[in-house]
Amino acid sequence: MFTTTPLYYEKPYGRTSTATVVEIVKWKGNDAIILDRTIFYPEGGGQPGDRGTLGESNVTDTQTDDQGRLLHIVSGQTALAVGDTVAVGLDWHHRYDYMQQHTAQHLLSGTLHRLLGIGTVSVHLGHDDMSIELEADTISESDINLVEDEVNAIVRKSVPVTAQVVSQAESTTLGLRRPVKVDGDVRIVRIGTYDTIACGGIHVADSSELISIQFLRSERIRGHVRTFWTAGERCVAMVRRNREIVDAIGSRLSVPPEAILQGVATLQEQLTDAKHQIRNAVSRSATLLLEQQLQAAGHADGIPLVVFDAAQWTEDEFKVLPELVLSFESLALCAVKKREDGKLAWLVALKGIEDGQSVFQAVRQKPLLLIEGKGGGKPPLWQGVGTDSMQKDQFLDHMVELYREHLHV
Ligand SMILES: [Zn+2]
Repeated sequence: MFTTTPLYYEKPYGRTSTATVVEIVKWKGNDAIILDRTIFYPEGGGQPGDRGTLGESNVTDTQTDDQGRLLHIVSGQTALAVGDTVAVGLDWHHRYDYMQQHTAQHLLSGTLHRLLGIGTVSVHLGHDDMSIELEADTISESDINLVEDEVNAIVRKSVPVTAQVVSQAESTTLGLRRPVKVDGDVRIVRIGTYDTIACGGIHVADSSELISIQFLRSERIRGHVRTFWTAGERCVAMVRRNREIVDAIGSRLSVPPEAILQGVATLQEQLTDAKHQIRNAVSRSATLLLEQQLQAAGHADGIPLVVFDAAQWTEDEFKVLPELVLSFESLALCAVKKREDGKLAWLVALKGIEDGQSVFQAVRQKPLLLIEGKGGGKPPLWQGVGTDSMQKDQFLDHMVELYREHLHV
């Protein structure tokens, strides 16, 4: 089987080169090109595969297949043919971003281990952030700050990042913070004297290229704490984006950044106050509307019979009706309200009426069927929604009759 010569270890900063197409195979329905040599790094060690161009073809991913072949995967079909010499162009922005995140992860894991004795369980280099799952169930804010300060001090020191291939035997003498997982020769990556570990990934050449490393957040997972970080140009972009957000909020509130929290607290208080006032106003207007209904109501044994269509009520006013009804000593009420969604809200209240439950049973057996009413409750209130609002007048007529019958008028 043909083995592609990797150029990415030798020339991790190589953005362009030329190569010859050796074979074209299929990968999940797309063409995959095998080159004689390549600067494209295949996915591995948590680092994503490279992207870029081979001549006119767009490479969307680089993978190693189960036969160990290094595949440059294009979307769809390629116009390239075996034997073609092609210009190879790496998506440098993508590659360098992950070189920064990956190297920052080494530095963070090494520093967590060196300063706090905390090992790394797993890492993930994501599109938005990089995460390190710690061999610990918690980490304090002061320890996070300690680590963050230390890694940024190392970034500023401009420490070289180097790689060296050693024998398996020699690797065991290096005091690696994690056992070697490969057989045979081992590629050792060092960040000055601050971290030494076996790794097959691509790294920046100097710690100063990491620019800045920032802690983002943490979460608990499988009894461990997972910490999220960002580094490099991605970190700078985040700081800028966050500053724009802070500025925008500040200008909306007309306050400087340091007064934003107080400004938001004031807004929340005002909102709570305004909601309270609205609730009171709705309750007052609903009380007036109910009083109008009571004035027009009939009585049975001194009990007001209030049966009406609340078409003039707002939905919010109708929602406070149950609360208002409870303040009456005795009342037989039935009200419906056609809602904006076309359904018919209904309310039955039998306050101060003995055996209200059996009266409601009668309501359920007939009138409620007219509006296909669903819902329920317990004495003295029952409520729900009907689907057939066309029948509401008929429903109300039935309710008047039913009340008169059951309340012995
Ligand atoms: Zn690495």
